[in-house]
Amino acid sequence: MSLLDLLFPPRCGGCGGYGAAWCPACAGTLRRPSASTLAGIPLVAAGRFDGPLQQAIHTYKYRPRPQLATVLAQPLARAIVTAGLPLAALTFVPLHPQRQRERGFNQAERLAAQLASALGMPLVSGLTRVRATPAQVGLSQAERRANLAGAFHWTAAQPPGHRLGLVDDVCTTGATLTAAAEAVAEVGGSIGAFLVLAVAQTLPAVAVT
Ligand SMILES: [Zn+2]
Repeated sequence: MSLLDLLFPPRCGGCGGYGAAWCPACAGTLRRPSASTLAGIPLVAAGRFDGPLQQAIHTYKYRPRPQLATVLAQPLARAIVTAGLPLAALTFVPLHPQRQRERGFNQAERLAAQLASALGMPLVSGLTRVRATPAQVGLSQAERRANLAGAFHWTAAQPPGHRLGLVDDVCTTGATLTAAAEAVAEVGGSIGAFLVLAVAQTLPAVAVT
């Protein structure tokens, strides 16, 4: 423990307790979802979007505490290793530039950077959110999909390549992830897996096989 930790002990992103940024009690509540796919692409998650993990993701994004990426990436990195998927590199779901300016960071990018370093994989960026999309909350899956159609483009000079792991914080209906994957496919690349901290209970059963 550093002097800084003694003076300002870290608080758990899940329960608010002092001592660790993600305490063993909260870590013990993670329930890893069973293997699933979204639009035929494997979906790997560290847990379900409820309880301490939901609270920690909220703290990470909105308080905000970007340093929580370090501890939140660990259970996801383990889930990716367990899944044994042959990924070539990682990339991430972009925020609209205005949203990123307001938040000060992109939670998916920061998470992807931690995962890339934990897994020893390259991190490539290239997806751009070309359209600010209205808030997704309260929309049906069909409405979300329409809302997001054409919202992403691959804008890097370098093509995306194949077997990319696409990182985001939460998968609610899968509309964001599939729209981003379509943007990668449009320029000849492919997504090998969707990698998220948490999947929502609302993820329609029809999207999961
Ligand atoms: Zn805790």
